[in-house]
Parts: sequence; C-alpha cells; structure tokens
Amino acid sequence: MREGSVVLLSGGMDSCVCAALAARDWGAAALHISYGQRTEGRERRAFLAICERLGIAQRLIVRNEALAAMGGSALTDKNMAVPESGQIGHGIPVTYVPFRNAHFLAAAVSWAEVLMASKVYIGAVEQDSSGYPDCRPAYYQAFNEVVRTGTKVGRIQIVTPLIGLRKVEIVRLGLELGAPFDLTWSCYSHEDRACGVCDSCVLRLRAFHEAGATDPIPYDEVAGRV
Ligand SMILES: [Zn+2]
Repeated sequence: MREGSVVLLSGGMDSCVCAALAARDWGAAALHISYGQRTEGRERRAFLAICERLGIAQRLIVRNEALAAMGGSALTDKNMAVPESGQIGHGIPVTYVPFRNAHFLAAAVSWAEVLMASKVYIGAVEQDSSGYPDCRPAYYQAFNEVVRTGTKVGRIQIVTPLIGLRKVEIVRLGLELGAPFDLTWSCYSHEDRACGVCDSCVLRLRAFHEAGATDPIPYDEVAGRV
C-alpha cells in the first residue's frame, strides 16, 4: 500500500466515524487491539462488521497481554466495578487504562511502517470525554515527534480528526458520512444490551439526543438519562 493509512478501530462510535473518514480519504487498513477488556468479544464483532460495511478489506486483530496483566483499571480488573456516570469532568476516572493509547499507537505505527502507509488515524476526543490524559492534543504532538525520530523513513503522521469536536458534532459528522452507528459498541460493561449508565453510554446517548437523532443500538436503561 502507498499513501495509505492505518486506522485504529475499537468498534466504538468515535473510532467508527474516524474510520469512515480514513476510508473515504486514504484507503484505510484497520487495526483492532483486544486487551482483556470486559467487552472485548463484542468490540471485536463490531470491528469486523464496521470494516465490512465500510469496505475495509485489510484488517488486523492483535492481542495486548500487558494491559490486563497489570490491571489498574475497571475495564481490565474484574474486582473493580465500572461506575455509573455522574463524575464526568471530576478527575480521571477508574475506567482509565494506564497509558493504553501509547500501546495502541505503537502497534499502529509499526504496521504503518510495514505497509508504507503515511497516516495513522485515531479517534481520540478531548472535549465531552471522560478526561483521559492520553486524549489530549499535546500528547499526540509529542507522540508524532517520537514517530518522526524513531521510524525508518520518519514520515508517518498520527492524525486525530475528532480531537477538537464535541460529541454531538461527531454524531452529526458520522450521519453525514454514513458511518454505521448501528454496528458500533461503546458500553464499558455489557455485551448484549448497552447498560445506558456508564460514562461511555451516557456521553453517547447525550450526543445523539443533542443531535436530534436516535441511537440505533439497544439499551437496557435509558429513561431520564439524557
Ligand atoms: Zn454502558
């Protein structure tokens, strides 16, 4: 592949919109990383279905064993409960997975180097997010410097097209692009019907509500949450 991109696609709504952009503009190859998170089976199914719908033929699923082995997050440690939303904007929540996005970016940049792709897309969002430190623009600027100095040719660029958007703007952009929201999975804790009460569900429901759209995935509990 030349002048192509690698897109990190978890299967959630942000990465789905990001993949729709990458597929439209750059002939994307999609990378999914399972890391022992609670909903990994469901997210993997979402990844494959989204690739199919977006016509992304080049796909790679890899496992990261380090993050779950180390724990320290409610997403990877079954002894830590996933909290109901309500603390958004008050510090870094227990769903933060320590330095996770660096593991993801490292794998994506390695693959981009092999494929001779020139962009790595990641759907990080700073505003309307849970406040994770590895979603800040300064982090990606610094990481790009690492990539420039640590790769063979040094021309791979990490791009974060959603980082400055509000969540409602991401929903609107996804609707314009025809991103397959019906195939996405964002819930931190459930794999059959989304819980409707974790941070990720609440942020997502609020965004669809503000966009005047209906979230097409099934929820357990939505009344009064938006
Ligand atoms: Zn949820």
